[in-house]
Parts: sequence; structure tokens; C-alpha cells
Amino acid sequence: MLNIPTEFIVIIIAFLLLATIEIYRPWYQVKNTKKVRWLSYIGLYFFNMLILRIILPITVVAYTVYIEKQQYGLLYFVEIPNYIKITIGILLLDLMSYISHRLMHIFSPLWRLHRVHHADTDYDIVTNFCHHPLEFVVGTLFMFLVISSLGIPILAVLIFTLMGELIGLLTHSNILIPKKIDQYLRLIMITPAMHRTHHSDDLGDSNSNFGTNFPWWDYVLNTYRAHPIAGYEGMKLGVKGFKESKWQLLPWILVQPFYKGNQDLEILEKDKSFPS
Ligand SMILES: [Zn+2]
Repeated sequence: MLNIPTEFIVIIIAFLLLATIEIYRPWYQVKNTKKVRWLSYIGLYFFNMLILRIILPITVVAYTVYIEKQQYGLLYFVEIPNYIKITIGILLLDLMSYISHRLMHIFSPLWRLHRVHHADTDYDIVTNFCHHPLEFVVGTLFMFLVISSLGIPILAVLIFTLMGELIGLLTHSNILIPKKIDQYLRLIMITPAMHRTHHSDDLGDSNSNFGTNFPWWDYVLNTYRAHPIAGYEGMKLGVKGFKESKWQLLPWILVQPFYKGNQDLEILEKDKSFPS
């Protein structure tokens, strides 16, 4: 069974591998000071881990172990082989992750927290680490709710978590996967090109491609966009109103949700360029 140190080692290896490819073969040149962004976002990642430990007394894994002992949740009432329960568990977690991501783009307080992740005006592997600590807390509480109501098995949680972290690193990386390979890959998983579209400052683009690991929810629920409206060359990254370089510094990242943006919900409501 996977354990936390093994998971951590796998993530570090994946990070180093992808970061090396990015440095030597970047898809696009990063515009802003790489040192500042990397310091800010990696610092933010460790800060988030610390805050999560302080605010929440129990980790997702420990919580799932408790739920499994108590046999809480829907899947414990169904008599099916364990490997099918694990597969269903992984798919349900991915669907819930898709739903929570869409909710983050719909409800103003959630959008303000998630907006921090979108405000990066560059896009590389450290964009993956740029999340407001309160978004982490809300996301973890949502996971607790999903795990206990659906009865997700521990192995499904471990596989989903590791997969999410690895695919998260890949999809945020600034590497070009050849178009032919990307076309086939995006049938089974989110690719960097697909998720880059979601980070566009165009509202139609950012209201598409919400998937975490698998693209199927976007296909079925009509939120898939093959490429940015202006093309990859013409698209602009970030969130309008939060493009100054100060928003990439740690103190400003932490206070950003308390600022009202000019791309807030009233504009999201008015925007009808949802992909069809
Ligand atoms: Zn988003």
C-alpha cells in the first residue's frame, strides 16, 4: 500500500523531472521574474501545509481510516467486489473535484479564494502550488464531506490523491506535448494544453476545462473547450485587475481575496461565452 513518505518521494521526482524539461525546453518563455514567483509559490505551498495542520486537527487520510472503521457512507451499503468499489471511489472523487471547481467559479466568496490560483500571469509548474490557504481548508472540508457521505475506501483516496498531485504538476507545467499525442492523451486525462486554456483571462476560456484528472466530466457536462478562443499564441494569462507583479508576492497573495476585482461575479454572470 502507498504510504506518505513514498508519495512524497514520487512527487519530488516528478517535480524535478518536469521542472528540468521546463527549464531546457519551455513551451513559452516565462515573462516575470522566475525567482520571485518560485520563491513566493513554493513558500506559499509550505505555508499552506502548516496552516492546514494548525486549523484542521486531522488529515484526509486519517479521516478516511476513521470512516472506514465506522463503515459510514453509501458505498458500504453496496455489495460489490472491493476493486470495483475502489474504481467507483476514484471516479466519484474526481467528479466531486470537478463539481467543487465549478462551484469555485460560480459563488463569489469561493471565487475570491480560487482567484488567487488564476491570478498568476505566467504558467509553469509552480502555478500548481499557488493556492490561498483558505481554499485549501475549504477543499479539505469538502473532501471530508464527500468521503463520509459516499463511503470512499482508503485505497481510492490514496490513489486519487497521488494521481491528483502528479497530474496537477503535469497539467500546470510549461511543456509542449506534440499535438498528435495530446489529441489522444486528452481522451483519458487532462493535458497541460487543456488546463492552460482554463487559466486564460478570457471568461469563456476560464469557464471551461474544470477537470482534475479525467476530462470526461467536461465532455459530458458541456464545459470542454479544445483551445483558447484567441489560440495559444494570442491568449493572455491571469485575471483582469490582478495583473500587477505585486500580486505574486506572498503578503499580497494572502490578502488578495479581500479585494473586489473587476472580473467578479457580476461580469461572470453577464458573460455568455460559455463553450458550446
Ligand atoms: Zn479554476
